[in-house]
Amino acid sequence: MTFSDFGFSSEIIEGLEAMGFQNPTPIQEQAIPVIQEGKDLIGCAQTGTGKTAAFLLPILNKIHQAEKHDNIKVLIIVPTRELAIQIDNQIQGLAYYLNVSSIAVYGGGDGSSWDIQKKAIQTGADIMVATPGRLIAHINQEYVDLTSIKHVILDEADRMLDMGFNEDITRIIKDVPKERQTLLFSATMPKKIRELSQKILSHPEEISLAISKPAERVVQGAFLTFDGQKNSLIAHLLQAKTLKSVLIFCSRKSTVKELNRDLKKLGIQSEAIHSDLEQHEREKLLLDYRNRTFPVLIATDILSRGIDIEDIDLVMNYDVPRDAEDYVHRIGRTARASSKGIAFTLINEDDMWKFHQIERLIGSEVRKIKLPPHLGSGPDYDPQGSKNRGKSYHKKPKKVR
Ligand code: ADP
Ligand code: MG
Repeated sequence: MTFSDFGFSSEIIEGLEAMGFQNPTPIQEQAIPVIQEGKDLIGCAQTGTGKTAAFLLPILNKIHQAEKHDNIKVLIIVPTRELAIQIDNQIQGLAYYLNVSSIAVYGGGDGSSWDIQKKAIQTGADIMVATPGRLIAHINQEYVDLTSIKHVILDEADRMLDMGFNEDITRIIKDVPKERQTLLFSATMPKKIRELSQKILSHPEEISLAISKPAERVVQGAFLTFDGQKNSLIAHLLQAKTLKSVLIFCSRKSTVKELNRDLKKLGIQSEAIHSDLEQHEREKLLLDYRNRTFPVLIATDILSRGIDIEDIDLVMNYDVPRDAEDYVHRIGRTARASSKGIAFTLINEDDMWKFHQIERLIGSEVRKIKLPPHLGSGPDYDPQGSKNRGKSYHKKPKKVR
């Protein structure tokens, strides 16, 4: 199947060529025709499968082919400002040869970004990409007119519910006409998502490609370590060879900060992203990381879904993610597009059962790698034994020896 089978206008095809997209991905193949028919849709496919273009392409084509006086407005609701910016960028790319306008509305920043957004909202655009909290803040000022919205898209719906946006979404949808097309995209399909979709979608088609298997090109490995060995092991792995782009996930903000301090002390060029940073600081770090200004980024799970960074050499899980799906999302940050990637997970004595559950979900056992001799030996692998132990990520990590 090729993109020309969808009957897109030539300007869209040109945009695809500019973006280097040759063939539709499976979710694109299945979702685009449903969206073109005007149906509501629940699209479930894991991170990195091309969900953004799956909804943008048919919507952009619709806007492009509409008569001038048809006011087709689109509202895309997303969990984070980073994702809002990323989708806005993808609109700019795909719609390069079209006459389509978009605005991104997200929180943080200073007073001037509020004023710029306010002005853009008042001027109007074909597409608005917004985070729920900030959009509601604008709605409360009474200049937001959502009455000509024809399409609503909820992207990363699972993440939005995790972040507590359920009520905000319901509030926003209240201002949108009932007569509309609603699309919901999610990497996972927990019960909460079903409940939300029953409230705001109408007779949706469902496409589910959620096989929860990491990309095959990701080489996975795990180290059994005590907490006190973790920082030294990470330093050892980072110093063992030249890596241009490494992403380390920690479950806690405090661990992110502490690991960053320890690595910096060892002369490793690392930076940390967490919710204490201002928006412009987070954006700057992300941009610098993308541009390979520094090689090691340490982050909480906020970065594990949705954000697309090309060609990460190595993903490390400082601890075992809370739920198995998060593991797949985290290691999905590597081996994007055509590259190969490595994913290492550090498992302490309390996380073994959790890791065992992940192995069950992904349907394969992850190789356990021996610790380098100078670190001493780690705990023995005993998932059953760790089943009832406390959650290790409530403990503070220890300093590098
Ligand atoms: P998801 O939302 O499912 O996590 P994205 O939409 O962010 O995935 O897409 C992941 C990456 O794949 C992006 O870099 C995107 O530009 C790229 N991509 C999407 N569709 C295609 C395609 N048909 N061909 C090549 N690359 C694609
Ligand atoms: Mg996405």
